Amino acid sequence: MATAKFATPALSRYPVIPLVERGAMGHLKPFVASPAIQGNIGFPGELTEGWEQRAVAKMGELLGKYRSLQVYMDACVHCGACSDKCHYFLGTGDPRNMPVARQDLMRGVYRRYFTFAGKHFPKLVGAVDMSKQVLDDWYSYYHQCSECRRCSVFCPYGIDTAEITMAAREIMDAVGMGQKYSNEIIGKVHKIGNNLGLPGPALRNTLEGLEEDVKEDTGIDVRYPLDVKGAEVLLVTPSADFFAEPHIESLIGYGKVFHAAGISWTLSTKASEAGNFGMFIGNYEQLRKIALRIREAALELGVKRIVVGECGHAWRVAYSFWNTLVGIGAGGKDPFAIELQNQLDGRYKQPTHICELTWDLIQRGALKFDKEKNDHRIVTFHDSCNVARASRMGDMPGGQFVIPRDIIKAVANNFHDMAPATIHEATFCCGGGGGLLTDDLIELRVKGALPRMEALRNVADDHGVNFMATICAICKAQFSKVLPYYGFEMGMVGGVHQLVSTAIRLGEPV
Ligand code: SF4
Ligand code: SF4
Repeated sequence: MATAKFATPALSRYPVIPLVERGAMGHLKPFVASPAIQGNIGFPGELTEGWEQRAVAKMGELLGKYRSLQVYMDACVHCGACSDKCHYFLGTGDPRNMPVARQDLMRGVYRRYFTFAGKHFPKLVGAVDMSKQVLDDWYSYYHQCSECRRCSVFCPYGIDTAEITMAAREIMDAVGMGQKYSNEIIGKVHKIGNNLGLPGPALRNTLEGLEEDVKEDTGIDVRYPLDVKGAEVLLVTPSADFFAEPHIESLIGYGKVFHAAGISWTLSTKASEAGNFGMFIGNYEQLRKIALRIREAALELGVKRIVVGECGHAWRVAYSFWNTLVGIGAGGKDPFAIELQNQLDGRYKQPTHICELTWDLIQRGALKFDKEKNDHRIVTFHDSCNVARASRMGDMPGGQFVIPRDIIKAVANNFHDMAPATIHEATFCCGGGGGLLTDDLIELRVKGALPRMEALRNVADDHGVNFMATICAICKAQFSKVLPYYGFEMGMVGGVHQLVSTAIRLGEPV
């Protein structure tokens, strides 16, 4: 069992709503970005005189730009339906981690400066001045939200706390109080091309090493190509896939799928990162700038299809935003967007998720499996928030729930779902999403994982489940870290394409 300076919550057989413990997580704040980190991505380095007015002005700008934010500020009736739906409240008992209370941190300031009642009778309507105390509370509790959107599923008005969190982070960045973890990563993507700061030569070495490993393991020459002009598919995948465990096992699996199906493909040095932390900090300019690398790489390489690897928020950005952001898929109107739309093969969905590609090949009989090779595994599936509640796969509603499970069932004999209230659109966050996957927030990450760990414990006890598959790099990293706190083996989590990799037949006619 891992050790820590906080108590890991006890697992219950049935969900328990915790006793409220005021201020239980008030001490927890991620490291603030240094002036250099802020400056690298064009944000002010620190709070300077007049920041309060600038914060309010930024809020006004966002209220004008995003109608949804204005609606969310006005529409809440404080019914409380969301209050026990956040994994961070369930794991910490801190009432400020109730979604409605998290929203109210911004709503108080909104009322003070943007409503008649708040301007004239602030005390009557809970309106508060923008102050350093308010900003500190924002910094703490808007970094205790993983932007998972679970609360919005249960809100009768569809209020999306994740969007409020994004707006709060954007305002904090605009006045010079950004988060070190996310902003440092964004700087690395701009400078080197991926979140991990892995330069091109290191990437090439890694992929060559992978080819040798797969050859040794299977006897087959499976290629992991980089920067190949004229390849049919550009695969954009989280950089963790290049070296982290268990992520790399899925990368091995993608390569085997392309090999077995005879599809030419390539990775790209320039677009060696599917992740886009611009979304986590709610900043449109960063979101677009990061996504543009992928368009540039696709144009340079002349590919016909763009496929996204196992990464939850990357798939949300790709599925929901790439079309209008950069023209991958119909939507973008600038000359480069139109050039790319003309270049990409219109017979395929642009972009395609790797699970859609693999499932399509399975359905067409283009891949063959020895399912019994996964017989040592009893598998469950963790739906990742951004895939489950902010995107889709395939042609039917809910395809994002069906397709990964159907792939698992095609490659493994033993599968059991976790409790219905914890999967599909009601899935619980892993506890580390939305820019919170940093060790300075480990207490929050461990406590926030509680609901998922309880559901996992139940299927482990009832069905002997020993492998939790997921299609998100953050979920994989988060679970690898927190599983031991709850008495599980860290190697119990892995990718869907890790299972594919184990069972797929290579080197024979298909
Ligand atoms: S979006 Fe997720 S993390 Fe944020 S308040 Fe809602 S349930 Fe909690
Ligand atoms: S469920 Fe919706 S309306 Fe009800 S308190 Fe939560 S955010 Fe407000």
